Amino acid sequence: MNTTIPLSVPNLSPDILKNLEETISTGWVSTGGRFIEEFESKFAHYVGVERALSCQSGTAGLHLALRAIEVGHKDEVIVPTLTFIAAVNPVKYMGAEPVFMDCDETLNMDMEKLEMFLEKECKMIKGQVINKKTQRIIKAIVVVHVFGNPAYMEKVMELRQKYNLKVVEDATEALGSVYRTGEHANKHCGTIGDAGVYSFNANKIITTGGGGMVVSRNQEMMETMNVLSRQAKTDSIYYIHDEVGYNYRMTNIQAAFGTDQIDRLEDFINAKIRNFKLYKEVLRDTDGLTLLPFRTDVRANHWFYSILVDKKAYGLDADGLLKKLNDYHIQSRPLWGLIHKQKPYAKNQHYQIEKANDYEGSIINIPCSSHLTIEEIERVLYVLTRREKTSPYIRVLPQVGDEINEQTI
Ligand SMILES: *Cc1c(COP(=O)(O)O)cnc(C)c1O
Repeated sequence: MNTTIPLSVPNLSPDILKNLEETISTGWVSTGGRFIEEFESKFAHYVGVERALSCQSGTAGLHLALRAIEVGHKDEVIVPTLTFIAAVNPVKYMGAEPVFMDCDETLNMDMEKLEMFLEKECKMIKGQVINKKTQRIIKAIVVVHVFGNPAYMEKVMELRQKYNLKVVEDATEALGSVYRTGEHANKHCGTIGDAGVYSFNANKIITTGGGGMVVSRNQEMMETMNVLSRQAKTDSIYYIHDEVGYNYRMTNIQAAFGTDQIDRLEDFINAKIRNFKLYKEVLRDTDGLTLLPFRTDVRANHWFYSILVDKKAYGLDADGLLKKLNDYHIQSRPLWGLIHKQKPYAKNQHYQIEKANDYEGSIINIPCSSHLTIEEIERVLYVLTRREKTSPYIRVLPQVGDEINEQTI
């Protein structure tokens, strides 16, 4: 019998157990302890910044970043509609409102439309961009590096300069993605804007069970976020608080995963790149299925793989393919529901959204865990290609068991 091939699951080594044992035997299980410091310092070194601040989740990190760039009540923040909702919710936590942008064919924010929006729909008054329609100040852009594919940060940073905006990079999916050319050559996703945020949720490229990290090249902002993440406690003996803070610190237990996981990150990325190539090799000959490419002028972490399904050419739509994969015990997932259509955001402004509408309902994600085996990849390809094409990679056929019905392939 075939066991289910999951979409994206943690790749954990037994070494983590040793770390966890230490947290228990020493009693350091809360928001202090050596693993926290070690993880933050390894992380900062890895992405090439001076300091990194660990926190409870990527969402918490995004909230801290928006506080640090001082998004005001009733300000507006430009966000993508094609993303996970956690990239947008913190805007609301601030009492601010999101304005939704379309994506381009990389699934990242469409830079041409972003520029057009700022140029045509906004005006500059006293050094601030005002949305002509709402008369509100546009304070910032949240850029998401979708599925680990780096967004066009050169353009974002040019617009930041021109329109006096702040930029928060949601790099929760893009840990390890690095620019290779241009102005930001050798910089990691998340280290270019005013602040960058990472996530260690269980489905991300490395995990701490749940957790996040925030970075900024601005050390004052780093300190602001640090203080806010500890209930804004400025005196630890007399408990003085000058602001309303949060309980957002990472625990030593989470960090005990992190110190080990980050050592293996480069191996995970290499495995993901190799597996992507195996999929690509076969799928390029499959009519109606397009494995969406990653940018080739960067080193992308290849976190999540996306397939665009053309119903006419393939014979099944994305939903049908999803069900079929499911029948064969292969977990896949449709693209997120667009955020501007979700209940809490249905009244917010959205600008010329077209491509995202087309992609919604026609893209699925396929298994991409870093420890996916060749046999598992072959099984996924076997179902995707319906055996019409032969490939040197398709050697292992699914076993005929009671739950796999050969005839329906
Ligand atoms: C995972 C994710 C987040 C949130 O991270 P958590 O650690 O789960 O809070 C935010 N934005 C995007 C785009 C994500 O994929």
